[in-house]
This record gives sequence, C-alpha cells and structure tokens, in this order.
Amino acid sequence: MADANPFENLQEQIDDAAAHLDVSEDVVERLKHPERVLELNLSVEMDDGTLERFEAFRSQFNGDRGPYKGGIRYHPAVDRDEVMALSGWMVYKCATVDIPYGGGKGGIALDPTEYSERELERVTRSFAEELRPLIGEDRDIPAPDVNTGQREMNWIKDTYETLENTTAPGVVTGKALSSGGSEGRVEATGRSTMLTAREAFDYLGKDMEGATVAVQGYGNAGSIAAELVEDLGATVVAASDSQGAIYAEDGFDAVAAKDHKRETGTVVGFEGAERTLTNEELLTLDVDLLIPAALENAIDGDLARDVSADVVVEAANGPLTPDADDVLTDRDVLVVPDILANSGGVTVSYFEWVQNRQRFAWTEERVNDELEGVVVDAFETLVDAFETHDLPNFRTAAYVVAIQRVANAFEEAGNWP
Ligand code: NAD
Repeated sequence: MADANPFENLQEQIDDAAAHLDVSEDVVERLKHPERVLELNLSVEMDDGTLERFEAFRSQFNGDRGPYKGGIRYHPAVDRDEVMALSGWMVYKCATVDIPYGGGKGGIALDPTEYSERELERVTRSFAEELRPLIGEDRDIPAPDVNTGQREMNWIKDTYETLENTTAPGVVTGKALSSGGSEGRVEATGRSTMLTAREAFDYLGKDMEGATVAVQGYGNAGSIAAELVEDLGATVVAASDSQGAIYAEDGFDAVAAKDHKRETGTVVGFEGAERTLTNEELLTLDVDLLIPAALENAIDGDLARDVSADVVVEAANGPLTPDADDVLTDRDVLVVPDILANSGGVTVSYFEWVQNRQRFAWTEERVNDELEGVVVDAFETLVDAFETHDLPNFRTAAYVVAIQRVANAFEEAGNWP
C-alpha cells in the first residue's frame, strides 16, 4: 500500500475542485481544515487487572450543514491525520448526497482481535464517556466504520443515555434493530456501491449482465456490494481480505464466499475459488469493474498504470491517491468517487436518525427505495456538473457540487466571531 498522507490527499482533492469554483481562497482554507480534534489517552483495565493505554481521536471537521456525522474506526493504523481526513470526506459525502449533516470521524488505535469482548466493551464505554460532552442527537452522531458495528454502537448509546439520564437513540446510528437501528443499514454501503456501479455502466453504455468484478476487502461494504452486483447479473471473479486474495476465472458464489469468511475469518481457502492472488494481482486484474473496499491508499500512481478495469467504484474511503486519480483520468478509466459510491452508509444512517427522532420505524422496502432515490439523484447531479463545467473526472465533479453546497451554507449563515 502507498504511504501517502490521507489528510494531504483530501486537501489536494479540495484544491482541485475549488479551482473550478467561484469560492474565495479564505473560505476554501476553512474548508480544508477540521474545526476541532479531540485527542485522548484512554486508560482501560484489562481482564488480568493491568491498565492499558489507548490513543483515541474524534475530529469534527465541519458543521455548516448540520450536526457532525461519521464513523468510529478500530484499527492499529488509526492516527490523527487519518481521522482528520476521514472526517473531511464525511463533510463532502453528506453534501454530495445533500443530507443535512456536517462531517466527523473517530477512531481508536487498536487491533480488536487482541482483546476479549469485555475488554472491548470497557474501551468503548471509556471512549463514549469522554465523547459525551461533544456528541448528541443534534451535535455529533457517531456510526460504525472498520472493525466496529452494531455491538459497539449499542454500547456507546447505552453509555450516553445512562450518563445523560435520558433516551436518545439518535445519538449514534448503525445500532441493532432492537436498539433503534434501521432496516437496510447493514447493507446500505454495499447497496450504494452497487447502485453507482449500475449508473456508471449505464452512463458508459456498458452491460452489467456478464460483467466481471474484483473486490478488494471482503468485509461489510465489499461483500455486500459483491452480492448485489451479482444480483444484477455480474460475475464476481476475485475477492480479498487482509489475509489474501482468491480468484476463479468463471466466477464464484459471492454469498458462499461471505459465509466462508464468516466461518473461518478469511476468504482464503474458499472452495469455490481456483487459486490465490497477491493483493497487486487482484487490483490489476482484467475485469470490467474493480471495487476497492478495504482501506486508504490501496492504489497509488504506479499501480494505477497497471489497473485494467474499465470502471472503479470506491466502496472504501480514499482508496486512490491523487496520483492514481491522475493516471486513471488520463487512461479514461471511470472512477466513481468514494463520497458518492459509499454514501449509502451515511444516507441510511440519516434515515435511522430520522426514524429515531420520529419514534417511527420504516420498512426495509421504504429504506431501500428512498436510498435509491438519493443516490441516483446525486449521480445525475454529478454527471450534470461534470458535463456543464467540463471537469476532468467524476471526483472533481462530486467535490465541485459538495464544496459549493458547504460554502453556500457557511456564507449564508455569516461568520459570527
Ligand atoms: P470491514 O472491517 O467490515 O471490512 C474491511 C475488510 O477489508 C476486511 O475484510 C479486511 O480483512 C479487509 N482488508 C483490510 N486490509 C486489507 C488489505 N490490505 N487488502 C485486502 N483487504 C484488506 O469494514 P467496512 O465497514 O466494510 O469498511 C471498508 C471500507 O469501507 C473502509 O474504507 C470504510 O471507511 C468504508 N466505508 C464503510 C461504511 C460502512 O457503512 N461500513 C460506510 C462508508 C465507507
């Protein structure tokens, strides 16, 4: 993986788009930096009675369009710059799909496989206690990200509600259904990845039926995207996770591969596959659709020269470096940017929050229909900006739309010293 700094990547993406906009330099400067970053050292008791220190962060990047919104990641590589970048991408993602949120992100530097469930619960509750003054249904609303899910969200909600002596299910999203979660939330990121892939193929006049697909990172986003593009008639030929990659020339059953990973912890060893691949081989396979769904900087400029897919749909946040973007633009590879492709997660999080505020639950059919409406509208707005402003690629088009929306909200509110 390339070692580009994701925060610098974000700032470059903003500059690239701002060059096509009539937004003043001082406002662009504001839009390139987080409003505040909380940095913590959590001291948490382990099962053997010892104390362990954990570095944790929450970045509130921009709240001009609504409460800060964004996930919490548990991963050894979590650091201040990564969290700041991820929080900025949330701002522009929410603005791309026009939902009334700003952007935030949090994380703890830890490998969850090294801790017991009780230890993870104490770490999560300790983080939630520290976050309490900053978060709230109308302030900042965390959600799951890499290595966190319903379990962690339920712990955060319970810690917050207990300390605040209230019920506030909308303080986090991505909760279990019985704790106020939404139908369709688990599948939402994979669903928007599928929807934007479908729209991109349509835009290019390509057929999804029979298209070949490779997925890097067969977790929540990647495996569900694989399953849903398969439902459209595509053939998944390769998938990977942190332990390796698998390949079958004629494709394999995406759901069976997911089941295998759930049972064994990895896609490697799945009987439907013919052979293993390296990570680089997977990313450069000659397929119609490549879905990077793991972590940032998966593809740098050098690797981008060897990417053979016609369409890349970014289920992950920040999987291409700006150099990779330039190379793929020059090579006419259509890239659907993360801030649109994976926006289903935050969009259904927004629906979950709306349901929590209404104390009324929607059906799965309604959630999926409303999500499709939001994502298809945003795709059309992006294509319109791309064509009207003659922009170099879809990423710049998405940022042009999003930055304009955030800048408008800031300027209309006025700056209160
Ligand atoms: P996850 O933990 O469910 O899955 C991540 C997968 O990536 C795991 O299978 C892991 O083994 C694999 N992986 C890690 N490093 C890898 C590597 N070097 N090569 C190949 N595979 C590797 O996480 P997720 O929720 O699916 O998130 C994946 C990406 O999608 C992240 O960038 C995340 O920020 C983004 N995303 C997720 C959501 C969501 O709702 N889950 C929403 C928006 C964006």
